[in-house]
Amino acid sequence: MSIQSMSTFPASERDGALAQIKALAAAGCEIVRVAVRDACDVDSLKWICGESPIPVVADIHFDHRLAIASIQSGAAGIRINPGNIGSPDRVRAVVDAAGVAGIPVRIGVNSGSLERDLREKYADDPAGALAESALRHMVMIEQTGFRDMVFSLKSADPAETVEANRIFARSNDYPLHVGVTEAGPPLSGTARSVVALTLLLSGGIGDTVRVSLSGDPVKEIVVAAAMLSALGLRKDIPEIISCPTCGRCHIDVAAIAQELETALPRIGRGLKVAVMGCEVNGPGEAANADIGLAGTASGAVLFRKGRVTRKIEGEFLRNLFDEIDALKSGREE
Ligand code: SF4
Repeated sequence: MSIQSMSTFPASERDGALAQIKALAAAGCEIVRVAVRDACDVDSLKWICGESPIPVVADIHFDHRLAIASIQSGAAGIRINPGNIGSPDRVRAVVDAAGVAGIPVRIGVNSGSLERDLREKYADDPAGALAESALRHMVMIEQTGFRDMVFSLKSADPAETVEANRIFARSNDYPLHVGVTEAGPPLSGTARSVVALTLLLSGGIGDTVRVSLSGDPVKEIVVAAAMLSALGLRKDIPEIISCPTCGRCHIDVAAIAQELETALPRIGRGLKVAVMGCEVNGPGEAANADIGLAGTASGAVLFRKGRVTRKIEGEFLRNLFDEIDALKSGREE
């Protein structure tokens, strides 16, 4: 189960795109999509693919020549919506090029860009329309002999997204990239995405996920990682426990926990880290984690595997990471 996101920079803004891709990768993103809109974007794509720490998927609409050029520029995959690429011959030219390069093609259908005949046929069944659109493209591309396909069926409505993916998954075994499109701003968008994705993933539907949120895409990775970890689908993702804080809190729990959240790969596979504000529940939770930090009147206490290792007065985040690094390297104090 892989975590995906998409750069908010077009490929031609290559420095911004690469810096963001590196930030996404540092947070735990495993596949990133980049918008390729024109020849300038294609020119930068090759460089981005060469520098990116994670596979780059080129996102193409309308112009099949950009898809072919992106494949030839080293994209690890491409995403198209055959409905806006044009004639079957153009779609065939794209999948033929992908076949030569040995890369997958994601067929992405979206409730906002469905074919007119399906919108009319399924006026009261938008999930059915999404599923039939994807199935129609599947049959058309299979006729070319190309099979290295991934599908995505997305709506801004969580229930519609779930239903469309269930219908599609009943009839074939192609990998599915799942997510709610245009889910919204971070808090409400998280709720909408997690509801839909939990229903799909717990039913065994979905191979890659994206939590689409407006704003900094690093937040998408934090949500997706926490969701996959909570569902037990990724045992390697670290778990951050932190208290909500109250009037007894001695340390800035929120800031420390937030920093940890955006550096999950640095924490290490499957580790549980607790950040607690005071002596009430702090020592208990901190001692139950692999690494724990509990605030005290004079600073904080660090725990490793249930034992107090040190009392510290400041630089809590740095000390916490030192403790994590020490645990990972097996070093004793
Ligand atoms: Fe409040 Fe302490 Fe509980 Fe945190 S651990 S919520 S600071 S009582």
